[in-house]
Amino acid sequence: MGLLENKTALISGATRGIGRGIAIKFAQEGANVVFTYRSSVEKAQTLEEELKSFGVQAKGYQSDAADFEAAESLCKEVIKEFGAIDILVNNAGITRDTLIVRMNEQQWSDVIQTNLNSVFNLTKNSIRSMMKTRKGSIINITSIVGMRGNAGQSNYAASKAGIIGFSKSIAQEVGSRNIRCNAVAPGFIATEMTDELKDEVRDAYLKSIPLKRFGNVEEVADVCLFLASDMSSYVSGQVISVCGAMNC
Ligand code: NAP
Repeated sequence: MGLLENKTALISGATRGIGRGIAIKFAQEGANVVFTYRSSVEKAQTLEEELKSFGVQAKGYQSDAADFEAAESLCKEVIKEFGAIDILVNNAGITRDTLIVRMNEQQWSDVIQTNLNSVFNLTKNSIRSMMKTRKGSIINITSIVGMRGNAGQSNYAASKAGIIGFSKSIAQEVGSRNIRCNAVAPGFIATEMTDELKDEVRDAYLKSIPLKRFGNVEEVADVCLFLASDMSSYVSGQVISVCGAMNC
């Protein structure tokens, strides 16, 4: 029997990278998986089929996590079709990297809306379902950049630091209802997001990682599986780094 049997998970931004890795891991462990994406329709259809091959229910929704009303109607539909949301993974995220002297308001607000508002939008609209069933695990994907900052990523770092404060607050608010809320802070994980970086930037990162390699999506998904499952039943309000000791 899988670790997530009889649970429904909602994962934002899962057509590629870390979100996709989490969706596959959760389906392998028996969860019904609902995932969202913004633009990648074909990748979503492929993922839906792959998840179903594990014998679970799976459905992809084109839904902008940054849009409150879209999140509201998404959660209503998921609860109607799947009965409840047991696990929420707020994963959708973007970067618009540039130094503050060059950063325009659009680059600032795009990142805050997609990375931080989205966490509020989906948590707000799924928490009542969790309160009703008196169980739930919320996992918010932050970044080690949210703890230590990063030149050229002030918008991204602010959004990720905001996620940490939000996660700890929610853990305190709803702990009495048996709902846990934690944040996962990846370091440098090989995905399309990090593929965009120049070779010299990637090399500099590699030198600063004590484990001397980049992480992979499965390694982040494994930590999310732990937090989603009953194996972490007394873990809440924490930030768990998955970074090869990059933050030491
Ligand atoms: P990625 O490869 O760029 O994938 C991002 C996913 O999010 C895509 O499926 C994308 O779907 C979706 N998405 C983007 N904006 C969305 C929106 N507004 N609504 C719904 N879905 C949206 O990114 P990743 O590297 O896997 O990163 C995933 C998360 O981990 C992010 O929160 C990121 O900040 C965090 N993180 C990553 C790293 C790393 O090294 N990779 C490190 C620390 C933290 P579409 O393609 O359809 O738009």
